[in-house]
This record gives sequence, C-alpha cells and structure tokens, in this order.
Amino acid sequence: MDVMDTQGETFCSNCGEEKIWLSSEIAAMFLELSELQIERLIESGEMHARRTHGGTCLVCLDSLYKTRQRSEEMVFEIDPGDLAEVAGL
Ligand SMILES: [Zn+2]
Repeated sequence: MDVMDTQGETFCSNCGEEKIWLSSEIAAMFLELSELQIERLIESGEMHARRTHGGTCLVCLDSLYKTRQRSEEMVFEIDPGDLAEVAGL
C-alpha cells in the first residue's frame, strides 16, 4: 500500500480542510464493510474519496467517522492512532 505519493495533497474539497486519508481497503476493514460497500458509499457521496497517481482509492478520515456514526451496527471503536499506524502515516 503506497500512500507516500499523496503527501502534501491532503486537502479534502468536501470538508474544506486538510484531512488524513486512508485507502478504501483500510476503510473497509475498520468499518467492517466490503470494498464494494465502500465504493457505494463513495458514489453516494457519504464518503469523500480521491485517487492517487498510482490508482489507489483513498477516503477522508472524517467521512469515515461520520459514516461509522451513522450506522448503529458499527460498534468497532476506531482509534486515530491505530489507524495512522495501520496506514503507515
Ligand atoms: Zn472529507
């Protein structure tokens, strides 16, 4: 997983702020959803996403949190420190 080429390009136009970005693969893991479900959330605009030059789909951490808060079924506690570690940030 290569997120190195995204450094300095962390602005989320949806949030209007600099955000932490995670690959859709990691987002799926933390939300306990399939990558297809993540793609649907992205398409519906619930999750903010963009692609790296390498073609990796990244999602904005804030939108990940908001998506999680909207789902009562998602009880997995997400620690930002853990996420950063997993994402190699
Ligand atoms: Zn965002």
